[in-house]
Amino acid sequence: MKIIKLETFTKPYVSFVKITIEDGSIGFGQMSTYHADITSQIFHKQVAPWVLGKEYYNFDDLEDFIFEREHKFPGSYLLRAIAGLDTALWDLKGKIENKPVVSLIGGNPGKLRIYGSSMKRDIKPNDEAERFKKLFNEKGIDAFKFRIGAECGRGIDEWQGRTEEIVKKIYNSLDKNIIKMVDANSCYNPSQAIEIGKLLIDNGVTHFEEPCPYWKPEQTKIVTDSLKIDVTGGEQDCDLRIWRDMVKKNIVNIYQPDVMYIGGLTKALKVAKIIEDGGYICTPHAANLSLVTICTMHFLKAINNSGPYLEFTIEGSDYYPWQKDLFLNNPFQIIEGRVEITDLPGWGVEINPKWLEGAEYMSSLYDS
Ligand SMILES: [Mg+2]
Repeated sequence: MKIIKLETFTKPYVSFVKITIEDGSIGFGQMSTYHADITSQIFHKQVAPWVLGKEYYNFDDLEDFIFEREHKFPGSYLLRAIAGLDTALWDLKGKIENKPVVSLIGGNPGKLRIYGSSMKRDIKPNDEAERFKKLFNEKGIDAFKFRIGAECGRGIDEWQGRTEEIVKKIYNSLDKNIIKMVDANSCYNPSQAIEIGKLLIDNGVTHFEEPCPYWKPEQTKIVTDSLKIDVTGGEQDCDLRIWRDMVKKNIVNIYQPDVMYIGGLTKALKVAKIIEDGGYICTPHAANLSLVTICTMHFLKAINNSGPYLEFTIEGSDYYPWQKDLFLNNPFQIIEGRVEITDLPGWGVEINPKWLEGAEYMSSLYDS
């Protein structure tokens, strides 16, 4: 069965991909979020032409095949576009075999514990503590991640004294059994990060994400070796050479690939294996409630070395207005701190037809 049509439905932050094969079977995937309008141009120019007319089932090779054809473009945008094709192929395969994707890759549907992930740095420490308490009481979420430092901040805090204040505030406000994590988003140099790390350890934080610029792994390594806390990272890294090198050099304690930045589920599974072979766990990055979190649910539930929880953003329409109304029948319902993968085929979600209608449409067709 050949791939005969590839369509995209695009708004500036999100672009869905629809794949159709010869017998009319379809699947839906999504490209990585942000600048999705640019990514969809790349999809039709540098991805679709190479796979139209190819057999749909051989997609492990298809991904490599595209990469070989476009080997002068090893960067993020091509991988973001390939993620759209890859995730559409998995949905198609699931629908053809009448299985959820998780079952195609060795796992089972069911519940997954989440951690509530804050994206806000402009939030005051007290307000952050209050919303964590509310989410614990109302939805049973018992693990949270908050932001420290400034994003790529060269050691500067979001405002003076915020980091120390929020670390202490969260510790003193939440039940001691609630897991506390932080993300520095590449803020610190090693000596600053080690000092901050001591503050974190004294205040019950167990996960210190991206302490140093992620493109300087030798700095991160110093922090990992100096502190008795889980240093974590890897969300932006999308080259298998980098992954092998990071794991081999023990750069962090917990590795966090992003299924969509990396180029889709097929490649994320390869990365999970590299991490597993290195003896580490994988707690993937998933920062918004588009298809990335759905794909990550299936991924996490299937791999052997999954971390204890799924990253799940706690931000709503004020922060992420564009993630509203993407799907019908809310696939992100939280009960007792858990979300659930159903046994519906493919990704098990229905993209909102109204959203698709309002999106910019492009298509590439197989010219037999
Ligand atoms: Mg992060």
